[in-house]
Amino acid sequence: MALLALAFAAIVGLAVAGQPRTAWTVTPAAKDLLADPDLKERVLKALDAARSAGTDPVISKFNVRAATVIRHGGGEKTILGGNSEYRLPEAIHGETSLMNHVITEVGPEEAKREVGFIAFYGERCGGGGSCGDCRDYLLATTRWQDLLIVCGQASDHTVHVDRFAKGIVPEDRFPEVPAEGTGLTAAQLDGLAQAALGARAGGIRLFTPPEDHVGVAVLTTTGKVYRAAGADDAAFHYRYPLGAALQQAATEQDYFVRAVVVAGEPGRIPHLSYRDRQ
Ligand SMILES: [Zn+2]
Repeated sequence: MALLALAFAAIVGLAVAGQPRTAWTVTPAAKDLLADPDLKERVLKALDAARSAGTDPVISKFNVRAATVIRHGGGEKTILGGNSEYRLPEAIHGETSLMNHVITEVGPEEAKREVGFIAFYGERCGGGGSCGDCRDYLLATTRWQDLLIVCGQASDHTVHVDRFAKGIVPEDRFPEVPAEGTGLTAAQLDGLAQAALGARAGGIRLFTPPEDHVGVAVLTTTGKVYRAAGADDAAFHYRYPLGAALQQAATEQDYFVRAVVVAGEPGRIPHLSYRDRQ
């Protein structure tokens, strides 16, 4: 009788949930990061939810299905995100989509406070982390120092977890080396620094604060130097300086870069966004 009742409860459970829960296995390397049983439960719930996240990867055909579960109003809230691509190779990525949806649901402060992880559901895990633009967005919208990146691998139902912070290297942690250690001559280095400083005097700065306005000079293997400054516009479409300099070189079919020099506000280590580092 008890068995029958249990079986009945299980069937009702399935019917209510819509689809059966996946029997996920947390990999040994991820066990410490998911030691908190409440967190683990939310992660597994998010992985199940991410399976049904809608995507539209018309170019790459690569689905990025993301979800998180946050504590909200005494209960829990499950929020989804998915990638979609459009025309020229441009895309809204899964994790930016997700964080935007969280902010839409609960506002930016609660989003920053409550999002502890982003769970991806995919055929294979180990894709190498978020792109530069997503890193910039997650740095701005989450408590990124504590953020966990979870991947549920559909092929064998294993759960892989890593810290988002592992992929972040702030500029102030870049190694300091003497000029001779750069592999450039003093004249080349000087020329590049002057070119980058000169570029920084230009550009367009409607909303970019002075500490984020940089000039960039690029030296290619042909000995040519290309330079550009950051430029923003009224619709918040920032034109990235390193990307601009590399695009000039690529336009000249000058594809091999020897050195990049970034000039920022005097007295500060210049900040180069992850999108531009990519
Ligand atoms: Zn991305």
